[in-house]
Amino acid sequence: MSGGAGPVAGRRRAARRAVVIGGGIAGTTAALALADAGVQVVLVEGRPRLGGLAFSFRRPSPVGELTVDNGHHVYLRCCTAYRGLLDRIGAAELAPLQKRLDIPVVDAEHRRVSRLRRTALPVPLHLAGSLARYRHLSLRERLSVGRAALALGRLDLDDPELDRVDFASWLRARGQSERTVEALWDLVGVATLNARAHQASLALAAMVFQTGLLSDPGAADLGWARTPLGEVHHTRAGAALEAAGVRVLLQTRAVEIRRTGEDDWCVPLDVKHGRAAGGGDEELCADTVVLAVPQEEAHRLLPEGAVEHPERLLGIGTAPILNAHVVYDRPVLRQPFLAALGSSVQWVFDRTEASGMTGEGQYLVLSQSAAQDGIDQPVAALRKHYLPELERLLPDAREAEVLDFFVTRERTATFAAVPGVNGLRPATATGLPGIHLAGAWTDTGWPATMEGAVRSGTAAARAAVARLARPAHPPLAVRRPADPQQEAAI
Ligand SMILES: Cc1cc2nc3c(=O)[nH]c(=O)nc-3n(C[C@H](O)[C@H](O)[C@H](O)COP(=O)(O)OP(=O)(O)OC[C@H]3O[C@@H](n4cnc5c(N)ncnc54)[C@H](O)[C@@H]3O)c2cc1C
Repeated sequence: MSGGAGPVAGRRRAARRAVVIGGGIAGTTAALALADAGVQVVLVEGRPRLGGLAFSFRRPSPVGELTVDNGHHVYLRCCTAYRGLLDRIGAAELAPLQKRLDIPVVDAEHRRVSRLRRTALPVPLHLAGSLARYRHLSLRERLSVGRAALALGRLDLDDPELDRVDFASWLRARGQSERTVEALWDLVGVATLNARAHQASLALAAMVFQTGLLSDPGAADLGWARTPLGEVHHTRAGAALEAAGVRVLLQTRAVEIRRTGEDDWCVPLDVKHGRAAGGGDEELCADTVVLAVPQEEAHRLLPEGAVEHPERLLGIGTAPILNAHVVYDRPVLRQPFLAALGSSVQWVFDRTEASGMTGEGQYLVLSQSAAQDGIDQPVAALRKHYLPELERLLPDAREAEVLDFFVTRERTATFAAVPGVNGLRPATATGLPGIHLAGAWTDTGWPATMEGAVRSGTAAARAAVARLARPAHPPLAVRRPADPQQEAAI
């Protein structure tokens, strides 16, 4: 990855050339799709790696060097676009799906475990048995959940009113108690929306629950990388880009997008450490640009006239995710993961094998979404808080020694899924021919997920290819001498 100045550098022009700015999941997807359509692509990424918000790093620890993900990432079987990307980059076997949805849910207060499982029965019966046996809710609450789920399934996702209402108000109006919100709706919603029900747009919540739980029996089966995320989104993605003929320039930032002709765009670069040929600044020129960067950077880079209300991009807020990493001297969690209730801990995953850790110990990750409360707390405070919580959830942790504890923080992990956000998210097409937007924050209908990122990248590439397929100049309208009134296209 990286490489010489190559064919698109400078001002030499040839047909069907694209620059993709941003090597996250959206940019990677767009670059691959453009290359697959026969377009010559250069992908520029400011950081020394691909994968954007889904990445890994190496960290020394008392048990040897660990490969650590910045945050645990999960996807669902209904994430068909993301699964398509995994297939395209030859990484599907690195991030397998459960055969059938099965989530152990542990209540720390009452020391009870109940599993959210599905059967092969048709929707909504696939979850009926599991709901009937869900011990964290009373019979009355379970019945009310069933009724609310059916009402949620009937909402029209195209109704703009849904984006004006918060999910908690809607649930309350459907008789949902605080307990049902905590034990069921937020259990799924916080992890997928990165927002609690009272912070979340009903439109996004309805989309998630309709697609994940009410579309197909297997839709919510969980998948996640059993290797470090970087193996999937940097190494495998990089190899696929290279095989597709995409030039990838890492440590290279786009500084500006400049129009140099009707369909001509130039992107001056800030090249760090001389990774692109020449070592200094370079400019890439192309027929089309896909801008797959976070919203603030898109606002900075978009040329004037690209979007009607550029200030709206800055109105799209962000929400944090925190991961606490704990290495024990022995196994304390006897299953691959669990979800917690009655505790500030949300989800716990076993990352021992994925991290490369050897020996007798176990490496757990606590994945904490909507982490506004903890995101700025010092590591010592988080340690003091989370270790006793883990002991409440996992009795074996009480006897175990903690060999390492550290925290990864992503303050702008996702866009904030608040009411009104869908109205601010821009479409792929801009007001400028040849400039296309991608990114999980654009108008995909999905919350900020890997699925949304892939969908946005595919949409941007499709729109760019459609534009490139048009003739360079529109047909001319001429008057025929025989009939001066008649116009015909040639
Ligand atoms: C801790 C955490 C946990 C998450 N958990 C999940 C999960 O369980 N499931 C799920 O589906 N999603 C999850 N997500 C969300 C998911 O990671 C993102 O939605 C997705 O990765 C966004 O991809 P993207 O390509 O749209 O944007 P980004 O990943 O932000 O990529 C944008 C890229 O553009 C680059 N860039 C910016 N400016 C420039 C410039 N001027 N020139 C060149 N390059 C530039 C950046 O360096 C970056 O690599 C999680 C995110 C985090 C942070």
